Amino acid sequence: MKIDPGVHLIASGRFGFDLSDPFDCNVYLFEADGGYVMFDTGAGRDPERILEVMRGDGLEPSDLRHILLTHAHSDHSGGAAALRNETGAEIWAGHATAAVVTSGDEEALSLPAARQAGVYPLDYRYHACQVDRLFEAGKTLEFKPYRVQVIATPGHSDDHVSFLVEAPGKRYLVSGDAIFFGGRIVLQHTPDCSVPKSIASIEKLGTIPFEALLPGHMAFSLNNGSRHVEAALEVIRHFGCPPTLS
Ligand SMILES: [Zn+2]
Repeated sequence: MKIDPGVHLIASGRFGFDLSDPFDCNVYLFEADGGYVMFDTGAGRDPERILEVMRGDGLEPSDLRHILLTHAHSDHSGGAAALRNETGAEIWAGHATAAVVTSGDEEALSLPAARQAGVYPLDYRYHACQVDRLFEAGKTLEFKPYRVQVIATPGHSDDHVSFLVEAPGKRYLVSGDAIFFGGRIVLQHTPDCSVPKSIASIEKLGTIPFEALLPGHMAFSLNNGSRHVEAALEVIRHFGCPPTLS
């Protein structure tokens, strides 16, 4: 689904637009670097559906060059192995995310507990994936015509990063699970989830100007997207914790 010039939503699950498998996060694709750059992968239960959505948008899957991961959670990285195999795209991740994605360590993903809690079906399995390229928070990557700043945004999980995708005239914040429409966040009973880190990350995002907010679930905003960060900051200023999605 084309959402802006050169920008597509190619997966979105039950907490979004029901475009692909119900357990998928929102997956965004930018036309860049003579092909495509994609952010996150969905859960990997139905990667063929994501390729079908691409084809429906006139996008050739073999032109997918790069897949950047916000964090390791299964709904964001579980499709990496299949999409890498199908398209030949390189997988990019931060060091901590790469360690989990490469090993496929389900405990590190809190996946057994998530299955028991009904967050994923009992038969869902994570497919480990080789990570081809590592990035550091604070660095800027070039995928012409875009510059992509990697921003450390721990809190939802300790390995979490967001991406500021900058083109002439427009900046997109790909925020993963760090901040959502309406200023919501996702806190979970997992060992590496932290309220103080989440709030510090939102305060950091509040210092970064951008127009479009492209979060990992629910609706996105194509203009005035920073109002959602501002909504969370308004709660934080009153000594509160932004409301959680689940
Ligand atoms: Zn997550």
